[in-house]
Amino acid sequence: MKLAARVAKIKPSETLAITAKANALKAEGRDVIGFGAGEPDFDTPANIKTAAIRAIEAGFTKYTPVSGTDELKDAIIGKLKRDNALDYKRSQVAVSCGAKHTLYNLAQALFETGDEVIIPAPYWVSYPDIVVLAGGQPVIVDTLEKDGFKMKPEQLKAAITPRTRAVVINSPSNPTGAAYSPEELKALAAVLLDSEILVISDDIYEKIIYANYPFANIATVEPKLKDRTIVVNGVSKAYAMTGWRIGYAAGPEQIIAAISKIQSQNTSNPASISQKASVEALNGDQGVVAAMVLEFRKRRDVIVQLLNEINGIKCMLPEGAFYVFPNVAEIYGRSFRGKKITNSTELIDYLLDEANVATVPGAAFGSDSHIRLSYATSLKNIEEGLKRIKNAVANLD
Ligand code: PMP
Ligand code: GLU
Repeated sequence: MKLAARVAKIKPSETLAITAKANALKAEGRDVIGFGAGEPDFDTPANIKTAAIRAIEAGFTKYTPVSGTDELKDAIIGKLKRDNALDYKRSQVAVSCGAKHTLYNLAQALFETGDEVIIPAPYWVSYPDIVVLAGGQPVIVDTLEKDGFKMKPEQLKAAITPRTRAVVINSPSNPTGAAYSPEELKALAAVLLDSEILVISDDIYEKIIYANYPFANIATVEPKLKDRTIVVNGVSKAYAMTGWRIGYAAGPEQIIAAISKIQSQNTSNPASISQKASVEALNGDQGVVAAMVLEFRKRRDVIVQLLNEINGIKCMLPEGAFYVFPNVAEIYGRSFRGKKITNSTELIDYLLDEANVATVPGAAFGSDSHIRLSYATSLKNIEEGLKRIKNAVANLD
């Protein structure tokens, strides 16, 4: 059957594909430990669930305004003021069905053929394809492990051309966990000051940070960029609400109006019940977030230590999010039963087949020397999973 050409230009989301594969194997009875899914393993906090149940009982089950209710927009405005010292009006906020949908709408609103979008690698799997679906051209800037996987101002400068429309900053990062300090962001901002380049600041892991400096947003650090920055965030990661599908953008009125127009012709509003739950997430007790972050930090310390005990693996200590991105290049060239492992895809296939451990190949994030493990799983799973990986790597010749 003939499909639109755009379908062939993109790949399915590898993070979601691997999670689905691991779940299918588990359903068949295989004892698979999943480090694939990038979603908190904690339950959505009780106060948030109660708000949703109340919404259903009160009949808050109908269409809402396309770009979200005023109540939720006000909660988002309050959050951006409180946490990020950024002021917005309701007309500068649009709520969508997850931050992924926000990014998709944004790309549709901004990019067309010939437009270049700078994406530092390693990058979250979906950025390049979201740009490609809009007809834009991703321009990948390879960051270095020795620089903590952070884009240097010189690298940003070198990537800029007259066609550059935007740069994506994701801090803390999926998949590396790198988090930019306020000074590092200020240095990147300095490169952009003389241009009209937009900044897409994906702050979805904002709350999950372990660095000894606070989370910073480029628009907070350099107010001159605020009129050109679109802040993207959501409730999925901070509040263990991945299934509720609420994300949002805050930025220039014209761009927000364009997102809303596009959304009015595809999904309409995000789920009314999820919007009520998100109001409670943002306005309610934030103690639950701190408790989850504390637990993630413990797991991070354990998983990094266990990975570094494996011959052939080197893992940096992430500063945020809930992923580790170990360098596994030393393993390439070793063989199992005469078959050589030569790249991240072959390695993760081997780990799934022989060790019953699901991980994601670094190639999906633009770095084939690495693999990604999500440590949003119990310490017990981390200890058992890493034992399996250690044995599997030791079994290679
Ligand atoms: N940005 C990044 C960097 C992510 O890792 C994710 C995870 N899915 C998203 C955006 C989208 O999150 P959601 O659609 O669940 O809000
Ligand atoms: N962002 C998560 C991940 O990277 C969830 C899956 C996805 O949306 O890609 O695993």
